[in-house]
Amino acid sequence: MSRMPDVAVIGAGIVGAACAYSLARAGLSVLALERDFPAAGTSRACDGLILCCDKTSPAELELAQVSAGLWAGLAEGLDLDFEYGNTGVIVVYATVEGLEAGRKQAIDRCGCGVKVEMLDAAGLLALEPNLAPDLAGGIYYLDEAQVDARRATLALLQAARRCGAELRQGVSVTGLRRDAGGRVVAALTTEGEIEAGAFVLAAGVWSNEIAASAGLQLPVRPRKGTILVTSAAPGMIQHPLLEGSYAASVHADTSAAQVALVAEMTAGGTLLLGSSREFVGFDRSVSRAVAQAIAARAMRYLPALAERNVIRAYAGLRPWSPDHLPLIGPVAGVPGLYLATGHEGAGIGLAPVTGEIIARWLIDPAYGKSQATSGLARTVWPGRFGDLIQDAAAVRAAA
Ligand SMILES: Cc1cc2nc3c(=O)[nH]c(=O)nc-3n(C[C@H](O)[C@H](O)[C@H](O)COP(=O)(O)OP(=O)(O)OC[C@H]3O[C@@H](n4cnc5c(N)ncnc54)[C@H](O)[C@@H]3O)c2cc1C
Repeated sequence: MSRMPDVAVIGAGIVGAACAYSLARAGLSVLALERDFPAAGTSRACDGLILCCDKTSPAELELAQVSAGLWAGLAEGLDLDFEYGNTGVIVVYATVEGLEAGRKQAIDRCGCGVKVEMLDAAGLLALEPNLAPDLAGGIYYLDEAQVDARRATLALLQAARRCGAELRQGVSVTGLRRDAGGRVVAALTTEGEIEAGAFVLAAGVWSNEIAASAGLQLPVRPRKGTILVTSAAPGMIQHPLLEGSYAASVHADTSAAQVALVAEMTAGGTLLLGSSREFVGFDRSVSRAVAQAIAARAMRYLPALAERNVIRAYAGLRPWSPDHLPLIGPVAGVPGLYLATGHEGAGIGLAPVTGEIIARWLIDPAYGKSQATSGLARTVWPGRFGDLIQDAAAVRAAA
């Protein structure tokens, strides 16, 4: 790319890749800057579930539903197969009380268009015969889907490049330079200064340091999650499974480690077993105690796992934000900078809608103005966000 790009995207995880794709598809010239290689961060150390069943706020549910629809379209439209499967997800409950509480939440979500099927104990075992026989029941969320997150990142980047985007790997952004008017005009990088018309900060949990160089304090914190990979277990589960307490573990902001079962079958036949949530800084090592806790949860629900081996384990860092909503859009007082971070445990699901919202902000100045007075002003940090609900609705209307 010889001329200055319209926009530089910092970070080529799934969120940066989705932004690069939406921006390039909208006709902007895009340069993606990645410190290591695509999906080097959290987007290769995670599950790949596209979920509505864990969303508790209307804003995030709306975003998730729009994004799920976008993922289905991408699965049809992108060249690289990223193992999209519209499998649905079953949330399983060990107790009758838990099941009742889960049903109430599910009924609320039905009011927003989420499709569910209530399962009693027998119905649950009919769909998932390898589950423990003493469970109370489950809730089958029919529209949930899954992808291979790393391949999905590569597929989005490939599509972005076909639309003219350039990806530079091995280039670390060390800061941002603002001009006399306060506008962010250049990224300081290990390969020198790179100017662009605008910058999208999509560096996941590493966004804070870059933002700080432009005088902006982001509230994003790394929330570690560990996953165990089993030896091949074909047929062990028919759908991804979540334990009923999963959503509560997402929203529990305690520093104590949270563990709730997530089980996902990969195309290769291995099972991904998670998941934990811990605030332990940027440490990505696998803790034996957490791994054991995950294994114990998994065996409680899937006793047949006792016959399988764990062949590896890894940990990733979710970009947590204090109100569990991602940071998407421009920043008051820092023109030229757009945020696309803070997706915590939902960045895979929410990546496409994030890309579309960012593209809207950049291609249509009137969009920004029309959102400026809308409701859901976010106060957790000194920026301003569009109303996420309205943003999502606008993306849905245009789709
Ligand atoms: C165990 C676990 C399970 C999960 N399961 C799910 C799930 O089922 N569904 C779901 O939706 N989400 C899930 N998530 C969350 C999801 O993985 C994240 O929200 C998502 O990957 C974040 O993507 P990102 O692009 O923002 O960040 P990242 O993938 O971390 O990408 C950031 C990129 O920026 C690059 N970078 C960093 N610093 C710089 C710099 N200075 N200069 C240039 N580049 C830089 C990094 O190398 C990296 O490639 C899970 C997460 C974990 C940990």
